[in-house]
Amino acid sequence: MKISKAEFRCSSERISQVPKDGLRDIAFIGRSNVGKSSLINMLTGRPGLAKVSGTPGKTRLINHFRIDNAWYLVDLPGYGYARTSKTVRNGFSTLITDYVLRCGKMHFLFVLADIRLEPQRIDLRFIDMLGEHGVPFGIVFTKADKLSKTQCEKSVERYRKRLSETWEELPPMFVSSSERGTGREEILDFIGECL
Ligand code: GDP
Repeated sequence: MKISKAEFRCSSERISQVPKDGLRDIAFIGRSNVGKSSLINMLTGRPGLAKVSGTPGKTRLINHFRIDNAWYLVDLPGYGYARTSKTVRNGFSTLITDYVLRCGKMHFLFVLADIRLEPQRIDLRFIDMLGEHGVPFGIVFTKADKLSKTQCEKSVERYRKRLSETWEELPPMFVSSSERGTGREEILDFIGECL
């Protein structure tokens, strides 16, 4: 799938504010600093679309970007930073859980994980929650340029192994690098098939 037009549509701090015009949402989430903004910019080919920052946990809103007037790319708030009054006990804000589990707008969710790290507790907890609720999701490994091809394969295998301790069916997995454009076609084609 190719993207010709990507435009910012709105930021929502409440579920009631997300667009309800019938276009499908394809969402992205991950721990702060995982490389989510960079991935969104890389996928859309628009370097400034989502902000890239070195300050973790800054964006706490849901951002909708309209793609080719056909679907929404949704930038969800990062999780895993210090707990706030709006953060529920499981470590995810009510905004995140309301959107992901309850609002019914999300068509598919990409959970991002830094390929250099072992499966992180908070990511596994989030993935388990998705699995328990039957939410359709996949995993995108970020920053693949930081490892060799063999190391990347080992990392993905380690993740597979860890997830298969709990789950019989594993989610689709993608290896990406925003620096090099790795994974772009594969992820976009997958989205194309989802829509
Ligand atoms: P976010 O907080 O998840 O939106 O993460 P950002 O996109 O702001 O990226 C966090 C940091 O990781 C920034 O310094 C980026 O330049 C860096 N980064 C993101 N993606 C990549 C990547 O694919 N390769 C490398 N080497 N660095 C990346």
